[in-house]
Amino acid sequence: MCGIVGYVGSKKAQEYLVTGLHRLEYRGYDSAGIVTIDDHKATLHRAKGKVEELDQLTAANPSSGTVGIGHTRWATHGEPSITNAHPQQSGDIYLVHNGIIENYRELKAELKDHKFASETDTEVLAALIDSFYDPGTKLVDAVAQALQLAVGTYGIAVVSTREPEHIVVARSGSPLIIGVGEGETYIASDASALVGYTDQAVYLNDGEIAVCSADGIDVVDLASRPLTKEVETIEVDMQAIQKQGYDHFLLKEISEQPQTLRSTLNGRVNVADKRIKLGGLNMTDDELKAVEHITIIGCGTAYYAGVLASYYLEQIVDGLTIDVAVASEFRYRSFHLPKNTVALVVSQSGETADTLACLREIKKRGVKTLGIINAVGSTIAREVDGGIYVHAGPEISVASTKAFTSQAAAMIMFGLVIAQTKGADVKDTLPYIEELAELPTEIENVIKNNQSEIAEIAKRYGSYNHALFFGRDTVYPVALEGALKLKEISYIQAEGYAAGELKHGPIALVDDSFFEVGLLLDNWLFDKTLSSLSEVNARGGHIFAITNSKKAIDAETVLHIDTKLKLLAPLVLNVAQQLFAYYIAVARGNDVDQPRNLAKSVTVE
Ligand code: GLU
Repeated sequence: MCGIVGYVGSKKAQEYLVTGLHRLEYRGYDSAGIVTIDDHKATLHRAKGKVEELDQLTAANPSSGTVGIGHTRWATHGEPSITNAHPQQSGDIYLVHNGIIENYRELKAELKDHKFASETDTEVLAALIDSFYDPGTKLVDAVAQALQLAVGTYGIAVVSTREPEHIVVARSGSPLIIGVGEGETYIASDASALVGYTDQAVYLNDGEIAVCSADGIDVVDLASRPLTKEVETIEVDMQAIQKQGYDHFLLKEISEQPQTLRSTLNGRVNVADKRIKLGGLNMTDDELKAVEHITIIGCGTAYYAGVLASYYLEQIVDGLTIDVAVASEFRYRSFHLPKNTVALVVSQSGETADTLACLREIKKRGVKTLGIINAVGSTIAREVDGGIYVHAGPEISVASTKAFTSQAAAMIMFGLVIAQTKGADVKDTLPYIEELAELPTEIENVIKNNQSEIAEIAKRYGSYNHALFFGRDTVYPVALEGALKLKEISYIQAEGYAAGELKHGPIALVDDSFFEVGLLLDNWLFDKTLSSLSEVNARGGHIFAITNSKKAIDAETVLHIDTKLKLLAPLVLNVAQQLFAYYIAVARGNDVDQPRNLAKSVTVE
């Protein structure tokens, strides 16, 4: 959450700052601001709302300063407003911040000389740094002193009109990347803002402070001891961060799932050899054989990918026990993990604050951790013992789609690797391997063959304000994810339920203000789910059934998905409901890619 950019070099900083903020806008879009410094004078522009509001200000008042910082905000303290927008100022310094300063009240009470203008925790940090920034003190030292008192999470960039030759950046819990150019240095909170400017980057770690100037960077720890950092190559291409002719990133990302899933599976699924090969687990065969328990941790869609994977993992690995937990709860629980546990830490961005906190708690207990991560080089990816990059490419739409599919596939592959290492019979694992190999084509077929029908169906349900999604067994997690997708982008209140649970409460809700999405798999539980449908029908429901069965189904609307997959059909049905949510959100005129109140990459608690 929140995008941070910075530039120092010989060009006009404003140009990169504005482009960078547009690219990072998906991380927060409550307000935006930049400050540039020219000849010891600051030019500050801040606007409420999206970055395009800032465009008008910067176009009307172009600055020729060659150093500057920018921010796009996801408000945590104080409403979205110009006064609360970053950069926040105190004296000669300007600060942009991602995260939360948890002890801001106590600090504020001590900072009696500063007249606070905003309601933000960020202004408190700016004033705190300023309180140490006496004449003769270097900005970097004032930042280091202030950070020793700050409790919470931060990624910050600070400039000063007294030291216009550099930007000071620091992090603890929120991401910051420094792009290394020729005679220029860039700051960004994720790699997408650097694409086309430089592919050389230094990833800052927690507890590190860097002084970034046109000629390079100096990194120190909070005690001002110098550190040596590696420059890494980032591999994100321009096409991956563009809409490529689609109306929305969300539709692009749903549509590219056949390719992104192929990237997840590529070199890993080998049908001819009847095996799965995963390179980055950093586990010996003996360690894999010893695995008895898997704990899966995630938030939102990543959590639901974990719930779905848990159904498959217990089918695939004989005797394995599994639990799946929501990271924001798990991190504070007195959890005990059995011996021979592996924790799968699932996050698209690899920066999710709660998931990262769980990873650190789990590591303290000496448990092996593996990341199921999309963003290469992200904090979680760097801190886990090993893992599986899902290689789905940048996900720009706030609502996650392609990452879900790839995360589920990655965890299923992990289960298959454990099973095959433990000596499972190939006849038990091969059907999953074959279906994984077929899955991209089956998803392609839904997108090609069912999309216009789904768009038509969406028109019928777009005016409801309540929805219930239900399914059994492996389509139950898909129902949970379907409800989340719909609520995120359409703002229709939607709940996902196990079909068998309807009669324990939610069926009381059924009336004409509701519609119900029933997911039915053509398997041994089909008739049971059909009974749930009948119970809803008997109470005047408006059911939209999505199924891979050809059998007759008594529902208001039925979408038959023609897929040859049996085991992995839930991942195919899920793509149909992704499209359904998308077309409903479009019909309701919503901002599909940047839904209200949300932001991508949740780096705050
Ligand atoms: N806590 C800060 C604020 O509310 C920063 C939020 C962000 O990460 O965008 O202004």
